[in-house]
Amino acid sequence: MSNYDEIISPLKEKNVRLVAVSKTRPIEAIMALYALGQRDFGENRVQELCDKQAVLPQDIRWHLIGHLQTNKVKYIAEWISLIHSVDSLALLKEINKYAAKNNRIIPCLLQTYIAQEETKFGLSEEEILALLDSDEFAQLHNVEIHGLMGMATNTDNTDQIRKEFEQLARFFTQLKSTRFSKTNTFKELSMGMSSDFPIAVAAGATMVRIGSSLFSKSA
Ligand SMILES: *Cc1c(COP(=O)(O)O)cnc(C)c1O
Repeated sequence: MSNYDEIISPLKEKNVRLVAVSKTRPIEAIMALYALGQRDFGENRVQELCDKQAVLPQDIRWHLIGHLQTNKVKYIAEWISLIHSVDSLALLKEINKYAAKNNRIIPCLLQTYIAQEETKFGLSEEEILALLDSDEFAQLHNVEIHGLMGMATNTDNTDQIRKEFEQLARFFTQLKSTRFSKTNTFKELSMGMSSDFPIAVAAGATMVRIGSSLFSKSA
């Protein structure tokens, strides 16, 4: 049994989508997973994402999981499947603008700050509530908020990781039953990477982003 089967089988059972994080991995390694049926791939840098998208099969669903600068939105707007890393209203406005130019609606997740460490990116719960309540947000018709994304503290303390994921899951459920109660598109909770995805799945993740443990043994 390959690494892939070991990882994907329990996820499939729980209806959790696997985003294979292919950053720094060569085309052949991506094609090896593609041949096994994997279609969701995630990258954290726009340039690398664009280079890969241009040469890989067109039915791959590409996820941007890393920080997105506003001036780079235009390069991915035509085909990006989901942007996990929306961390400002300014970015959301830019995504909306290029989505409109491409005549589409771009699904986005709001990156939520949950870790007990200094990170540059992500919004607090208060900031997310303010964003969602703003008049400007109400004007954006070419973006759709499909859920939240978060990264736990990089620590061996599994209790702390579990608490952070559970807090994010609570906030997700709260938003779902309040701000998003009239839609059914707010349904994705993207949390968990190689080191902590079982904890994330137990806490309610609908999507995990796995790189190293998926690619290390293969290709
Ligand atoms: C690299 C990365 C991952 C995957 O990390 P692994 O430890 O390789 O599984 C997940 N999410 C984000 C945002 C990343 O940048």
